[in-house]
Amino acid sequence: MSKYQRKDIATKVIHAGAHADKETGAVTAPIYQTSTYVQSSPGKHQGFEYTRSHNPTRTRLEECLAAIENGKFAIATASGMSATTLLMHMLPKDSTVICGDDVYGGTYRLFTTVFKNTHRFIFTDTTNTAELKKIIQKEKPQLLWLETPTNPMLKITDLAVTAEIAKAANVITVVDNTFMSPYFQNPLNLGIDIVVHSMTKYINGHSDVVGGAIILNKKSLYDQLWVLQNSIGPSQSPFDSWLVLRGIKTLAVRMRTHEANAKLIAEFLEKHKMVEKVIYPGLPSHPQHEIAKKQMKGFGGMITFFIKGGIKNSRKFLETVELFSLAESLGGVESLIEHPAIMTHASVPAPIREKLGIKDNLVRISVGIEDAQDLINDLKNALKAISN
Ligand SMILES: *Cc1c(COP(=O)(O)O)cnc(C)c1O
Repeated sequence: MSKYQRKDIATKVIHAGAHADKETGAVTAPIYQTSTYVQSSPGKHQGFEYTRSHNPTRTRLEECLAAIENGKFAIATASGMSATTLLMHMLPKDSTVICGDDVYGGTYRLFTTVFKNTHRFIFTDTTNTAELKKIIQKEKPQLLWLETPTNPMLKITDLAVTAEIAKAANVITVVDNTFMSPYFQNPLNLGIDIVVHSMTKYINGHSDVVGGAIILNKKSLYDQLWVLQNSIGPSQSPFDSWLVLRGIKTLAVRMRTHEANAKLIAEFLEKHKMVEKVIYPGLPSHPQHEIAKKQMKGFGGMITFFIKGGIKNSRKFLETVELFSLAESLGGVESLIEHPAIMTHASVPAPIREKLGIKDNLVRISVGIEDAQDLINDLKNALKAISN
């Protein structure tokens, strides 16, 4: 892995973990679709005993993931949520976790339904670093869970500043980096301890796999997580690992196009008379645009906007678009559109949604890599349909 450490991510996604097969010279990774491995004598094997613990296809993916996030270790899991579950099991009983108040709906649900029995959660706006510092000093948490940009409000937390505050208080920091992908943001470089991804999204990028990843530098934490992964068993299957290895090769080209398209669409929407407001980190109107420029290499492909005219117009707009598929999820090559209040964030209680600003006229789009003008024309038609 270290061999590619100094190379650009566009090179790493192609080469890290992608050595030619020793047995045949095959250029692409073989799918080791096996549950177990023969031993020459009891306990004597080639590093592989059982696929829950190790699988050569998954190991290749983990090498690539570590390389592209500038980490030493990676664990590939069967879903983003299983990666989060694994991490939470690392904490002793009665631990305190401080968590961003606008995190992925499934993360919120996992914390407030499953782990509420063993851990204490405090939700707060992590973009307010001064307030966050006070809460950390008062509550003495074991772990700080961050998402930046958040979902769906795209709020941005200053990672370098936050990592410093947490380090001084001995708090483990985790960033869910799904929205930016390793192409646009590398939290480990900014002092964060652990990065989590839903590989279902940009990393795989083709909407055909559910997967998760944990990437980190600290050996002691990795050893602990590896024992947990072997005990709990959320490891990613060989075939899904292979599909992600295939998808990840185009991460750089995909992310560049997602962003170029998103920028044009955000500018188009911001000028449209039927749009109340657009949230995109790349727009100067974004409240944390300066922090975004400082800590991200680009602004990604996610846009949130408010349509004029409330739920009736939003519904009609969502039914009228043709190229944008009305679906949950994000980060695939195809453009998706969704309504967070009814769809992805339905598990967040209505009063909290209201407080966060997830209103009934809020629409989130995951901009795909189709032709930008075709996408703009599609949005233009749907906005026209509600403007009379
Ligand atoms: C989708 C998503 C997850 C959960 O990942 P799954 O692969 O669906 O389990 C976690 N965080 C973010 C930001 C996501 O978008």
